[in-house]
Amino acid sequence: MTRYLFHLIGLFIWLGLAGCQTVVSDPIPTVNPAQHIIFHNGIVLTMDVALPQAQAVAITGEKIAAVGSNDDILAQQRADSVVVDLNGRTLMPGFVDPHTHLFNDAEQYFDMSLPEVQQIALENGITTLGNMYVTEDFLEEMQQFEADGQLRIRTSLYLVATDNCGKPFDDWWQQYPPSRNPGEMLRIGGVKLFTDGGTCGAPALSYELVPGEGLGDLFFTQEELNELVTTIHNSGHQAAIHAIGDRAIEQAQNAIATALDGEPNSLRHRIEHNSVIRPDLMPRYGEIGIIPVLFGPYPLCEPFGPPPPPEYQSWEWPYRALFDANPGLPIAWHGDDPFFGRIRPLDDLYSLITRNEIGKDGQLCEGQAWQDQHTLTATEALKMMTINAAYALARDEEVGMLTPGKYADLLILSDNPLEVDLEAIPQIEVWLTMVGGRVEFCHDSQQALCP
Ligand SMILES: [Zn+2]
Repeated sequence: MTRYLFHLIGLFIWLGLAGCQTVVSDPIPTVNPAQHIIFHNGIVLTMDVALPQAQAVAITGEKIAAVGSNDDILAQQRADSVVVDLNGRTLMPGFVDPHTHLFNDAEQYFDMSLPEVQQIALENGITTLGNMYVTEDFLEEMQQFEADGQLRIRTSLYLVATDNCGKPFDDWWQQYPPSRNPGEMLRIGGVKLFTDGGTCGAPALSYELVPGEGLGDLFFTQEELNELVTTIHNSGHQAAIHAIGDRAIEQAQNAIATALDGEPNSLRHRIEHNSVIRPDLMPRYGEIGIIPVLFGPYPLCEPFGPPPPPEYQSWEWPYRALFDANPGLPIAWHGDDPFFGRIRPLDDLYSLITRNEIGKDGQLCEGQAWQDQHTLTATEALKMMTINAAYALARDEEVGMLTPGKYADLLILSDNPLEVDLEAIPQIEVWLTMVGGRVEFCHDSQQALCP
């Protein structure tokens, strides 16, 4: 907890410097449904396996109208079209972070305004997020924020069923059913619960991380967790279950399997963090249909604790093995901002590909050899941060991929993360952030790119 607070204080200082000129107070304007925008002459990373890369995109109103070659898209130009030459720059879907604390921590820990933290997230390319740890009071605050016309990032709220020590609240969340209206900015996404330590006590492991200090803290018996997850399932809510250690992951997998009772996971119950996965638990995600939501960076700059004993190192942050054991499963990342002290998805992309970490002061902290065995490809990591993350939020029909009919939530980047040297990924800049066809951020030096 001390370390957590330290992170938060560091972020407070940084955010305070970065966000002070950018308060928004006027309600966001509505997008003209007739607007027609063409981006051409670029590298368009669609996240669509049928057409992974294109040159141009057309947008009508809030949505993507067409994706294709320069010739095909420019042929659709109208007298009133706004045409933007990308000059070879990269255009991709906005980042979707399915598990952050951006909004609730901005309020509770920083005494910072919601618009300030929202602006920083937009400048770093986040266009959709899941905000975890939503209490009834905070739900009201977010609903007011949206009613005031201030919410500019698509936000799914996860209502807390337990505190971070696993203490159940009453069933207040049952009064607030989830919503699934396409394109809505604010949504009740599901219910969050904690099954083991992390911010309260220690993760529940099968081995002693520190000799003599025990196996960590499991908050429920299997029967108790089965009952709670089944109640959440029967209420129509998606369950997002915090489980860091392997013993908690096993319990969470069992509880979801019990709730599903052999049916497909249509509510998309998720397990959050999944930091230490025992090998026999690996294929169970795919077998049961559970979505794992994984940290972007491994905490190298400010480690959570000592490294695992050598014989258990292959269990820790085992992303490569998890992908290989679950082909086709939409595995998602999460930034868990502001836990790592910064809001910077491109740094997390770099971490997923290299296992190195960019610290909150911008320093490079390099992974160990045992961590390097769990690097992912840039293509895998980008999907985790866009379409797979949208799947984890049940927003994959709306965002996360550049295909006709989806909302025009997209970024222009200074470079192509699939092509640049890996070490150059953290230097990539976000030049434009668009949400639903509206420019939400335009880099000062790149006004010509912003319609
Ligand atoms: Zn979290």
